Amino acid sequence: MTRTLRTQVLVVGGGINGAGIARDLALRGVRVALIEKGELGGGTSWASSGMIHGGLRYLQKDPQVTLHSCVDSGNIQRIAPHLIFRIPFLMPVFRDGPIGPELVEIALEMYDRFQPLKRGKPHTRLSRQEALRLEPVLSPEIECAFSLDEWGVDAARLCAANALDAADRGALVRTHSEAISLLRDAERVTGARVRDRLTGEEWEIEAELVMNAAGPWLPKVAHLAGLEVKLRPGKGVHLVFERRVSDLAIYATGIDGRDMFTFPHEQNSMAGTTDDDFYGDLDRMETTEDEVAYVLQAMERSIPSIRRHRICHVTAGVRPTLFGFGKYEDELSRDYQVIDHGERDGVPGLFTIAGGKLAAYRLMAEDATDRLCAKLGVHEPCRTARTPLPGGEAPLDVAALSRRFRVAWPTALRIFFRHGAHAIRVLEQSAPALSPESAASVPRIVCACEPVTDAELTHAALREGLRTLSDCSLRLRLGIGACQGASCAAAAAHVLSEALGWSAEQAAYELTAFLAERWRAATPALAGAQIAALELHRAADVGARGFTRGDRTGAGGGEESPRPATAWAAA
Ligand SMILES: Cc1cc2nc3c(=O)[nH]c(=O)nc-3n(C[C@H](O)[C@H](O)[C@H](O)COP(=O)(O)OP(=O)(O)OC[C@H]3O[C@@H](n4cnc5c(N)ncnc54)[C@H](O)[C@@H]3O)c2cc1C
Repeated sequence: MTRTLRTQVLVVGGGINGAGIARDLALRGVRVALIEKGELGGGTSWASSGMIHGGLRYLQKDPQVTLHSCVDSGNIQRIAPHLIFRIPFLMPVFRDGPIGPELVEIALEMYDRFQPLKRGKPHTRLSRQEALRLEPVLSPEIECAFSLDEWGVDAARLCAANALDAADRGALVRTHSEAISLLRDAERVTGARVRDRLTGEEWEIEAELVMNAAGPWLPKVAHLAGLEVKLRPGKGVHLVFERRVSDLAIYATGIDGRDMFTFPHEQNSMAGTTDDDFYGDLDRMETTEDEVAYVLQAMERSIPSIRRHRICHVTAGVRPTLFGFGKYEDELSRDYQVIDHGERDGVPGLFTIAGGKLAAYRLMAEDATDRLCAKLGVHEPCRTARTPLPGGEAPLDVAALSRRFRVAWPTALRIFFRHGAHAIRVLEQSAPALSPESAASVPRIVCACEPVTDAELTHAALREGLRTLSDCSLRLRLGIGACQGASCAAAAAHVLSEALGWSAEQAAYELTAFLAERWRAATPALAGAQIAALELHRAADVGARGFTRGDRTGAGGGEESPRPATAWAAA
């Protein structure tokens, strides 16, 4: 017999929009279930530039997008201060550039008016010498440069924080759970049939309302109800450098005149992004050599030494941009839409949220939740602009944290960054659990790139509903720096096996799948000796440890379910 769960609202998609809506609903006392077919934030949100900016670019044609994003950036900074970081930008002006410094300055003066909304500083004009002194990697060919102030966020962690807060307030949150069909009666959509992609188990969620927040996949979910929602999906690629290329973010212009930038992001630098119409399979997206070459060519003009830096991996995602015909990708509106399919198509019970920006997610979620609550007859006001996300409640003395738990200061800082005030809980609860015989056990660094400790992995497994090793790269940034899993994957699999009771076969599968994903993310940007180094590393894993390469399709019960693999876990 099929297991059935009843709730008021089912949210399909655990990206930033779905997670934001689930949290808003839970805060208003609405019973909600959130299902995500992979890991939280694993779709477009993870692949974004993670900027909570106003978007200087949208000022001219989409000023309301700039306004919404700046207002909401201010809100996000208030509710999740631990998850954000300042990104000062330099915009170099070249003598042969399409616009001179005077015009650039007019645009920046307009943008300055929005800056106070997001605690941003006004721009400054720098001479060539001043700019080169500030950022020596800049091209000496510049005429002058301008500074402007932006903010970044750990987008995947922001998704997780929203979903975890919703769960704390009573929501059901299930990752690796996909809506495979929508339930309907004669009149309306009444829920969804859900498949657990790890176990293969199927169950049903009956709901008064279903919110389709599936990002670029949303046309597919709407199609399950026989409806059409058109998007103009735009693929965007980033190159991720193993360490900081520059202290400041630096604008660059593509060969086609598009704006791009290299920017410090957490422990790495990122460069991008592309924006190309995408007609392919969203679940099998690859980054091409052309895309890598296009970004590098743009960056090289502003940062001539860029090719000397090692790219450790690439990211690719698809924007769920609102449909528009006859425009270049960059000219499309970044506005959003909440669709009531009862009103639009005569199919009540189903809503869709499309388009928008990560930077304005909370505001979009508020709008969508207002619409859902109006249907449910719920009159509670939105509280997400003032209620801190988990960990955002209070600042923490990181030096004291470092002393108390005997972790190095940079490690304490990164744990605080991801967990905010809950960092104490992470270190307090998890570290002793690892070796109960010693209350004085010290968290051990598993991945030095960020760094990530065993305590944090255990906490994520036991308290955050983490289900696979691959989830850790999003949730905790495991293995996404210089090592790409080479030095941390086996140790992390071991910690999670202890916490989650994985069998030897499952642990081996998890490890293989994780490494396969890291390899897939690393290979598009490799050249020369790097390819040889990667192949040697693969040979060491596949040969010496006897792994079989993981594949998450069609095995056993679930699409992502463990395939029996060989020896590692016995070791
Ligand atoms: C390259 C790039 C750079 C960007 N940079 C920025 C930026 O700097 N700042 C900014 O504000 N915005 C940026 N954006 C835009 C921003 O990332 C998106 O607007 C936002 O992340 C969309 O979130 P979402 O929740 O709608 O979609 P997603 O994050 O894709 O979430 C949808 C989720 O639904 C899940 N799903 C799909 N089908 C099902 C199903 N049947 N059952 C269960 N789950 C399902 C998917 O797995 C996915 O996780 C960028 C976008 C791209 C591509």
